[in-house]
Amino acid sequence: MSNNNKKWFSLNLGRKEKESSGSCGCGKTSGGCGSSSDSHQMTDEAFATAAINASIGEERTKDGFEQVFDVKMDRRTAFKKLTASLLIGAGAVSTSCSVISGDETKEKSQIDWEEQFKGNYKLMTDEEKGATVDRLVRSYQLRTGKNISMSSKNAEEDVLFGYAFNISKCQGYMDCVNACVEENNQDRNSQMQYIRIHEMKDGKGFNFNEADDNYYHEVPAEGHFYMGTQCFHCDNPPCVEVCPVQATWREDDGLVVVDYDWCVGCRYCMAACPYDGRRFNWSKPEVPEAEINKNQHYLGNRMRKKGVMEKCTFCVQRSRAGKNPACVEACPTGARIFGNLLDPNSTIRWVLENKKVFRLKEDLGTEPKFWYFMD
Ligand code: SF4
Ligand code: SF4
Repeated sequence: MSNNNKKWFSLNLGRKEKESSGSCGCGKTSGGCGSSSDSHQMTDEAFATAAINASIGEERTKDGFEQVFDVKMDRRTAFKKLTASLLIGAGAVSTSCSVISGDETKEKSQIDWEEQFKGNYKLMTDEEKGATVDRLVRSYQLRTGKNISMSSKNAEEDVLFGYAFNISKCQGYMDCVNACVEENNQDRNSQMQYIRIHEMKDGKGFNFNEADDNYYHEVPAEGHFYMGTQCFHCDNPPCVEVCPVQATWREDDGLVVVDYDWCVGCRYCMAACPYDGRRFNWSKPEVPEAEINKNQHYLGNRMRKKGVMEKCTFCVQRSRAGKNPACVEACPTGARIFGNLLDPNSTIRWVLENKKVFRLKEDLGTEPKFWYFMD
């Protein structure tokens, strides 16, 4: 990639090196994180609380766990107590579960056990990532008798994903929204959707405060135009900077992702995002078995628990397999364009070089990789 292109896209391609050499790993790259050289170690108390929350969550308030753990204890003691509790829980589950038995019960307990104490996906080796997705695939098989495929594919070199949205073409059909819900195994009961389509009045500019994001009438409505928003996969994502546990980060191909099993649900990232790009799931995503998309990625559309942060991943399970995101495929008007910004022959590059493009809130310096344009 030439220096010209670097300047052209305002990309911060040196970030990775800088972070690995100068950062303590807390996600902050400047100004210091206020922690000691041992800062990536949590205190024993914080560790015990995080471990309990990650494993039993709000259940702690219901069954006495709070009393058991509401005492000062060191990491080893916390682990011992947690282990005993989990084994009791696993036993209760296994005796009440008629779907699996014998060796499979033991295997399931073993999987549950390893899942409880797995590390942050970001820090795993490729081997550990592979073992983790294998475990989840096997767990699904044991629980349901059905198969899924789950990828742990990393970012490829020389790939940086970008997106462009043609405002002139969008007619507000929301096919993209529905495709996204289905592709990404989003909850069918709530209205939580990664993509929003904003209906705006002609002649009023891009006024998001007055836009209707929840319209139920025939489209396109006269005197209106439509704009889609979702996570813009910023190059300088403020959502990543604020995460206290590094559960969200930017990958080398530009995708900003979340490890659902590391997220503690604090929603700091949601507050930090200037584009309303993040969605907190208040209830466990429910998807009928027949509708589950079984082509999954660990960082994308795999089934997740309630109380964690979700968002658009540019369909990592598709984009890293060389396909367009589901929203791009579904759009009947061709308003959505996706591709590799580092490929000079890609359509996205053509759009950026030949159309008058703009991004939202450029002045913030977030460098979203999502451009808008008009014909
Ligand atoms: S759009 Fe929001 S959630 Fe997405 S990367 Fe940017 S700041 Fe983060
Ligand atoms: S809610 Fe957001 S900030 Fe909080 S732990 Fe999860 S990813 Fe990190």
